[in-house]
Amino acid sequence: MPVAVSALTGGARASARKRAWWVKSVDRPALGEKTADFKRFSGDNIFAIYRQLKTKRDGAGSFEAEQAAKAKRMAGWMREGKPGFRLPDHQLSEGAWTLMKANEPGAGLLSWTRISVRTPAELGVGRHTAPPEEMAETVKAAARLYGAGLVGIAPMNEAYVNLRQEKKDIVFEDAEVPAVTGTKYVIPKKMKWVVAIAIPMDLDLLARAPTALGDAATGLGYSHSAFAVASLAEFIRGLGYQAIPSVNDTALSVPFAVEAGIGELSRLNKLVTPEFGPAVRLCKVFTDLPMACDKPVDFGLVEFCKKCKKCAEACPSRALSFDDEPSFKTRGPWNNPGHKAWFEDSYKCYQYWQKVGNGCGICLASCPYTKAAQAWIHGAVKATASIAPAADGFFRIMDNAFGYGRQHDPERWWTKDAPWVRRG
Ligand code: SF4
Ligand code: SF4
Repeated sequence: MPVAVSALTGGARASARKRAWWVKSVDRPALGEKTADFKRFSGDNIFAIYRQLKTKRDGAGSFEAEQAAKAKRMAGWMREGKPGFRLPDHQLSEGAWTLMKANEPGAGLLSWTRISVRTPAELGVGRHTAPPEEMAETVKAAARLYGAGLVGIAPMNEAYVNLRQEKKDIVFEDAEVPAVTGTKYVIPKKMKWVVAIAIPMDLDLLARAPTALGDAATGLGYSHSAFAVASLAEFIRGLGYQAIPSVNDTALSVPFAVEAGIGELSRLNKLVTPEFGPAVRLCKVFTDLPMACDKPVDFGLVEFCKKCKKCAEACPSRALSFDDEPSFKTRGPWNNPGHKAWFEDSYKCYQYWQKVGNGCGICLASCPYTKAAQAWIHGAVKATASIAPAADGFFRIMDNAFGYGRQHDPERWWTKDAPWVRRG
């Protein structure tokens, strides 16, 4: 029997439990398998690509002019106290991003070498050994403690690792330890395992997208990711092995998460998980610690996405695909060819971010799978969708009827809706 990906649901510290019966373990994912055309991604992020394309399309200085106009508009919103964009809203987001912004790939919390943990040799013991299945459970338990809502193990695949970052090549070598030199990032070839992690986003904040409060949900997810992978890397090093922590840097997170059984590739061209929908941030740790790998999952998502299209309709910039079927047709240099997907127009998406002054996230909030995992009605709906795709349209209509996906009042977050207020 395959090792099930462990899920921690409900937000509080809890023991690992098996997933719902309708989450099936499969040999091949419904979407996301790669062809021979699939190549290592350049590593250029959408921010750099957008800047280049904007200059090419609208002329020299157009990017800088757009940024200046954005800054002026945001200052105006702060002065006039526009809900969701006031100074406290903006700074709440800035605070949430702190841990993520303070760490460059390969440095600080994201160091590729030991930060402070003492090695087994320093403690006078040998390194920890156990059968691969037990090792996987040990590492997953630690990952959950550090904040993973979902965690699975995938085999390393060099094709998913970026070619470059920070103007240096990322290379695989017969090395004993990972290294960051003046010219390259070195991943030892013996690092054959990837711990794929999904960090749940704060739904109260995400429901305020596309305001600064919605952006705080993204920042918090990234900062929690940095903490989780840094802590897990130190734990693994403390057992006597090598570990490289990674958030959005170094490699694509989605294909590793698909292969580790965290979720499925969706119309968003992002991962959707059975428990948290797309409202997660993905991160990972590469290691030479031998562990049993998980398998991909199928919970009927791809068939559901074919009919649903709720995210595409909700997207204000029309960046998401309305096609009935996924295809091999990419939409820009931010997409990697060589696999079937509903490819998105990231240029349009990022252009909209410039209008609102921060990240958006409306599509994540609108997805019917973005629900508190413990709500029984949604478990029943998701279960039925996994076995009866014909009913998918009905569930989408019901999702609308329940009012999900509608933006919540930003000002209520500071008073009535904040979790600590509810608890009181
Ligand atoms: S983040 Fe906003 S603009 Fe971008 S795809 Fe999602 S809904 Fe559209
Ligand atoms: S909103 Fe609908 S179409 Fe979009 S990812 Fe979610 S289930 Fe798929």
